[in-house]
Amino acid sequence: MHSPEQETMALQGDYDCIVVGAGVQGSFTAYQLAKNNQKTLLLEQFLLPHSRGSSHGQTRIIRKAYEQDFYTVMMEECYQLWAQLEMETNTTLFRRTGILVKGPEDDKDFQLFTDTLRRNRVPTETLTHDEFSRRLPHMVMMRGEGARIDTTAGVLYADRALRAAQGYFQSLGGVIKDGVKVLNIQPGSTVTVTTAAGEYRAKSLIITAGPWASTLLSHTGLQLPLTVVKINVCYWREKVPGTYGVDTGFPCFLQIASEGAEYHIYGLPSNEYPGLVKICYHMGSDTEPDRRDRQKDQTDIRILSRFVSLYLPGLEPEPALVESCMYTVTPDHHFVLDQHPSHRNIIIGVGFSGHGFKFAPVVGKLLCELSLGKVPSYDLSPFRIQRFLSQMKSSL
Ligand SMILES: Cc1cc2nc3c(=O)[nH]c(=O)nc-3n(C[C@H](O)[C@H](O)[C@H](O)COP(=O)(O)OP(=O)(O)OC[C@H]3O[C@@H](n4cnc5c(N)ncnc54)[C@H](O)[C@@H]3O)c2cc1C
Repeated sequence: MHSPEQETMALQGDYDCIVVGAGVQGSFTAYQLAKNNQKTLLLEQFLLPHSRGSSHGQTRIIRKAYEQDFYTVMMEECYQLWAQLEMETNTTLFRRTGILVKGPEDDKDFQLFTDTLRRNRVPTETLTHDEFSRRLPHMVMMRGEGARIDTTAGVLYADRALRAAQGYFQSLGGVIKDGVKVLNIQPGSTVTVTTAAGEYRAKSLIITAGPWASTLLSHTGLQLPLTVVKINVCYWREKVPGTYGVDTGFPCFLQIASEGAEYHIYGLPSNEYPGLVKICYHMGSDTEPDRRDRQKDQTDIRILSRFVSLYLPGLEPEPALVESCMYTVTPDHHFVLDQHPSHRNIIIGVGFSGHGFKFAPVVGKLLCELSLGKVPSYDLSPFRIQRFLSQMKSSL
């Protein structure tokens, strides 16, 4: 992934910043650091691209519809920064489809979504039952359900986005070393990381290790309450090809509080695999990142099958294809974006809880700001480590 000149630079030693983990968060962090003229090394344990973390696959949803204002507010700049990367790399990364947010009108979560959309003046459409049947004839709206469309939302092309951010980072002089696993971290005013390929040193270190974050943080004496779950990424076959297609205007959707489902269910129109609609359950079963495929629980697939038969009669109710991915979940499902409590030049960006992709451009900017000692562009209190204090074990 790096040129001979970059290799020479790396062997000469020190960096302003080392980023560990080239998923979407590490890649965007490195991109922001390089834009800020920081001599940056991005280390990735696997050869790139890979499908063993959380950022692989072709698509992710981007939306302003959220339960909390602080996410909706951050999304404004996210859209701008995604568009900027599209321009810088001459790549299409976003396709607007809108997202249908649907659920029982009297459900607390549904109301949180609709209130946030209204308070933040997000362009939306509200569909009555009649309008819903005309507009989305192949989806069921139950009695008592409400339906809003966040018309700003759409699909991000995930694999392409990683390539674009990593490529632009390299074009600015950044160094990527893939197939290089960080084995140890020695904190200090200069941080040293040990890999099988040697030691690297930098003024600051940013940890964006996704599901492996706990292992890496243990080298710094910090334990955060992170849980890793395996997600069965299910694709469902259209009985009539194109019924739920991106070209026929079918939106992404977020189903809140459907019968038998404790967590939300989300879907994207058929797109990356023609004739197949991606629909997933927003939670999975515990796993260890290096043993992901030993987790064979299919509870989520059963919940999804039932949902598909009830709400999407134009799909076959058994998945045609199942891929795997992982979430790294915090107890409150909010991210961790903070400095290490004992080592201020170690910055942590972890725990994206299955909804972090869309935020990567702003996450990268914030982690870069923290590493440069700048005042962060957003209030980081929802993302501080402090909130876990009672659950945290620190040997420092
Ligand atoms: C099925 C699924 C659907 C999703 N849908 C959406 C969506 O629609 N919208 C949305 O916004 N978000 C979505 N997400 C969430 C989003 O994809 C994640 O929040 C995001 O990808 C997390 O990125 P990351 O960089 O933190 O982790 P990762 O992508 O896992 O990257 C971490 C990287 O660190 C590397 N690493 C770890 N340890 C070491 C080490 N010791 N040395 C070197 N490298 C190391 C890993 O190999 C990995 O490449 C979804 C996630 C999944 C799984």
